Order: sequence, then C-alpha cells, then structure tokens
Amino acid sequence: MTEPLTTGRVIGILGGGQLGRMLSVAASRLGFTCHVFEPGANPPAGHVAARVTTAPYDDHAALEAFARSVDVITYEFENIPTAALDLLESHCPVRPGRRALAVSQDRVAEKDFLTGIGLECAPYAAVDGPGDLDAALARIGVPAILKTRRFGYDGKGQARIAAQDGAAAAWEAVAGAPSVLEGFVDFSTEISVIAARGADGRVACFDPGENVHRDGILRSTTVPAKVPAAFATDAVLAAGRILNALDYVGVMGVEFFVTPGGLIVNEIAPRVHNSGHWTQQGCTVDQFEQHIRAVAGWPLGDGSRYADVEMLNLIGEDMDDLPAHAADPRAALHLYGKAETRAGRKMGHVNRILPRG
Ligand code: AMP
Repeated sequence: MTEPLTTGRVIGILGGGQLGRMLSVAASRLGFTCHVFEPGANPPAGHVAARVTTAPYDDHAALEAFARSVDVITYEFENIPTAALDLLESHCPVRPGRRALAVSQDRVAEKDFLTGIGLECAPYAAVDGPGDLDAALARIGVPAILKTRRFGYDGKGQARIAAQDGAAAAWEAVAGAPSVLEGFVDFSTEISVIAARGADGRVACFDPGENVHRDGILRSTTVPAKVPAAFATDAVLAAGRILNALDYVGVMGVEFFVTPGGLIVNEIAPRVHNSGHWTQQGCTVDQFEQHIRAVAGWPLGDGSRYADVEMLNLIGEDMDDLPAHAADPRAALHLYGKAETRAGRKMGHVNRILPRG
C-alpha cells in the first residue's frame, strides 16, 4: 500500500476493547469505516464500528474473510498470535509491522532491541527455568522483579523479590513461565512519550506525560510532566530512535523511569496507549486520529499541545465518582460502554483541563 487510503475505505482493527473503540471513532471522523475482529462477545468497539467479527484468533476462515473485507489492518493490543498475523499479512497490509510486534511480545527480545540501539534498560537476565533464577539473582541482586516474558500487562505476571530467599515464591507467582529478572529501578517519576511515525518516515511526538500507577495499573497521566526540559527532550529523541529502528508506521507508547542518572526505558507498546488519552483534549490531532492517519498513509498532525491536562482512569469503583466528574465543567468524560463494573477493570477516563499556572 503506497497511496494514501481514500475516504470510504475500510480499516480492520484486531481487538475490540476501549482502544479499538476510540480508534473506530477517530477513523469514522476521517470518513473511514471500521471492521473489528474480537474473540469476546459485546466488545466496547462493537458499539461504534460498522462491522464486527466475533471469532477466536485461530479461526483461519474467519481471519481470511476479515482480511479480504478490509484495506489495511491495525491492532489495539500486541499479543496477537503470530500464526494469525502471518495469515492476515498474506492478504492485506498490517500496520504497524511484524518486527514491532515480535519485539514487544517478548520482554527479553524487547530489552535486547532497546539496549542494541543504545538505550538504557534496567539490568536484566532471561530466566527460563528455576536454575536460571538463582544465577540471575546472583548477577542482578535484590531488590528485583521477575516478569513473565510474554502476555504481561497492568502489572500482571510479575513478582517482586526483596531478598535472595524470595526466589522460590517468585517462581511460583509467575507459574514457572519463561521470564525475565529485572533489577529494581529507584526512580523519581515515571513518564511516557506517545510517538507516531508516518508511512513517509516522518516522526511526531506528543509531550511526555507523567504517570502514576496504583496496584500496577495506570491511575493518572499529567502533562506537562514535571521533569527537567533536558529529560523531556531525551525521552522524545529516544522514542524517535525506536520508531526509526523498527521502520515503524503508527502510534507507539514508550514508558520511561526517570532517575538522577538519566532515563531508563521500561517498556514499549506498539499501539495507542492509555497514557496518551490526554491528547483527546490537549491536542488538535489526538493519538487515535494520529494512528489512523499513519496506517492510512495520511500526513500526521504535529503533536503540539495547547492545554495542560490531567487524565484520570476510572477503574472499578472509581465509577462511583462519575456524577462529580460529570458536574465538573473542565472535565471531558470518555466511557467505554462496558456492561459490568468490576474491580480493577478500566471503565472509562476523565480528561481535566488544568488551569495554566
Ligand atoms: P510494567 O508492566 O513492566 O510496566 O510494570 C508495571 C509497573 O511496575 C511500572 O509502571 C512500575 O511502576 C513498576 N515497575 C516495573 N518494573 C520495574 C523496575 N524494574 N523497577 C522498579 N519498578 C518497576
């Protein structure tokens, strides 16, 4: 696909959660229609996309029919089985491409890639069996965190190790899955950059946001991040280096730990990112439109920000605060239409415009 996608064409989205929902809204605003592929019933994206296929990722007939019905395919989550991707790619361009997925699906491959292009990560060692863990602990020391190599998100599949004798419990906590041991980073702040690269290779980044987590789940993102200007510049340059090295097309979230010695990359997500939701109220072109523009081969927005914003996730019982947020004239509400409120479940978010000061 070399020509920009024209209005009326169909964008396929793998995954029908809130990110797929907000991508569908952005795509509709640009005159595209969306076809969502999602294994689960009643997905949030299904309320707004023109078409939904409900099938598992190993249903080859459904994948093939999906690929034939769309002009380009993108995704809202990185854990797509590679066999599904192979099949889809034989029919239709997939953006971002395969390399970004392969790198981000495996924490060890991701850290090898990041350190290979000269960026700093926490000290790490692959742990494929209980024997490896003792050797890794001896090398990296404590405190440390054991994380599953694959399928971890929102702090799931992770165990902290405070002392050398905590190895057995941590190994049990990750259920013996292939993992990576990471040295614990003593950071002052967590920040992230939402970066985009177009089909023409141009890169545009949004300002770094400052992230606060609660129980391993993102609680809030505030822009501007309160970090020295040089750190904000470093973060943007690092994100650009990652996108260029992957020949990436689309939006990516890059998370960093801020330490006195500089930035340490925590992880990358090859998709629109929860910590980029503030762009919906802070920028002319938000991260969702930016991603659709990139995958459609359109010019990108420049990422400039015209407001200070706090994004607050509404997780589980936070929904009790909805009436107060709704009554706040500075707050924009984004609710995901999920039928059931459950503890730890992302139900929506609020973007609050902050007074400039
Ligand atoms: P992750 O799923 O890897 O993003 O981890 C979730 C959260 O756990 C991060 O946002 C940090 O707050 C914390 N965390 C993860 N890795 C480390 C580390 N190596 N050192 C300190 N804190 C960490």
